[in-house]
Amino acid sequence: MSHLFELPVAAVPVAGNDKTFPVRRIYCVGRNYVEHAQEMGFTGREPPFFFAKPADAIVNVPPGGTATIPYPPGSSNVHHEIELVVAIGKRGANIAEEDAAQYIFGYAVGIDMTRRDLQMELRKAGRPWELGKAYDQSAPIGTIVPAVQASGIEKARIWIAVNGEKRQDSTIDKLIWNVPETIAYLSRYFELHPGDLIYTGTPAGVGAVVAGDEMHGGVDGLGEIRVKVGAADAA
Ligand code: MN
Repeated sequence: MSHLFELPVAAVPVAGNDKTFPVRRIYCVGRNYVEHAQEMGFTGREPPFFFAKPADAIVNVPPGGTATIPYPPGSSNVHHEIELVVAIGKRGANIAEEDAAQYIFGYAVGIDMTRRDLQMELRKAGRPWELGKAYDQSAPIGTIVPAVQASGIEKARIWIAVNGEKRQDSTIDKLIWNVPETIAYLSRYFELHPGDLIYTGTPAGVGAVVAGDEMHGGVDGLGEIRVKVGAADAA
């Protein structure tokens, strides 16, 4: 039976491949670097926690190019969170840490854009974070680099600058829950599937952007992305 109408499938380009990686789900890890947890008012190693964004929150950043995202409605404090993104390539549940690598298709650079004012209000009220995190065009992402071409990623530098000024600058080995641990933990609660993306958390230095700002970030070995903040969408 055919559909009433067509829905576009969010997809991410893959380095060295003319086929794209279709996106099924976007999982995000909260407070996964110690210094960022501290700047958010928390300390210590707590169990990982997760939130999600819809697949169509993806914004593709072309290699060597710049994507533009609108300043989102309903917020006056929109933050950048530069993150290592893991692309899942194999179905699995209850994955052991030592097997996690088999489930990784590749890695990309992403930004978990956040309406911080709404997230904080919701957090304080004990309500879900969707309005703060899962909004339209809140998940810019660069090209996926296949895992076989991304050796050493677990210690790579991760950084982002806004208008040329460095805001976040850390290394992936400072993750509280590293990539295998995150996959193991998440897969106890959700069966992971090819097409799932995991935004693994952001280091310290999150901060606000305004219309006209240009974000420029990267993870060594995965390339760089440029994302410009446009005016508020008239829609
Ligand atoms: Mn984040």
